[in-house]
Order: sequence, then C-alpha cells, then structure tokens
Amino acid sequence: MLDPTLRRGLYGLAAEIRAVEEGHNARVMPDGTVLVKAESNPGSYRVVIRRVADGVLWFGCSCRSGGYRTSLPVPCKHAALAARRLEREGLARWDDGSWRLREWAQVRGARLLLARTVEAA
Ligand SMILES: [Zn+2]
Repeated sequence: MLDPTLRRGLYGLAAEIRAVEEGHNARVMPDGTVLVKAESNPGSYRVVIRRVADGVLWFGCSCRSGGYRTSLPVPCKHAALAARRLEREGLARWDDGSWRLREWAQVRGARLLLARTVEAA
C-alpha cells in the first residue's frame, strides 16, 4: 500500500494528465468557482474550493466522481485541472503530493483571489 498522501498525489497527477489529454479547459468564474468543460462533448462541471486544511486545498466538483470521492482532496480530473489553474495564477503550488495555498489559508479568501484573476485575464 502506498502512503495515503502519496496515493492522493499520484491520483491527482494521473487525473490531471487525463484531463489535458481529453481536451478539457478550465474557466474561472466571477464567484471563484471554476467551470470545466470538455471540448468534445457538451457537458460542463463546476469545481469549488471545498476547504483548506493545514494549507492543503480540498476541491469539490459537480460530477459523479466529485460526489463520491469526497475523501480525496482532488476527487476528479476537473478538480485537478482547476488546481493547475490556481497554480498557473500563482495562488497554489504542488507540494508533497497535494496542492497548497501559497500564503494564508482561508476558503473564502482563496475564492476571492481566484475570482480576481477573471478581470486580470
Ligand atoms: Zn469532476
């Protein structure tokens, strides 16, 4: 068995790679959620920052995996893509198998920061 943190990290990375391969793209919404859609089909999913625990970002998603993998910080590929977006915006960093906030850790603050990137984009 892998260490749970490592397993989580690997899951997150694998999910991210799949998402990129499947041509998803992530769009930050004004409320700080991230809308992820697949170019190949009409569906879209909403990713939210669910909580921040010890600096680690936990994501939720409106897709099926997001509904049942709630014990994982990154429950699905959509969440992984949203996390990468936060990383690109300089808000989060990949560290020790999870995405962490760069500075202080507040869910509301993180959402607001993310929302602010909409105007900057
Ligand atoms: Zn999802």
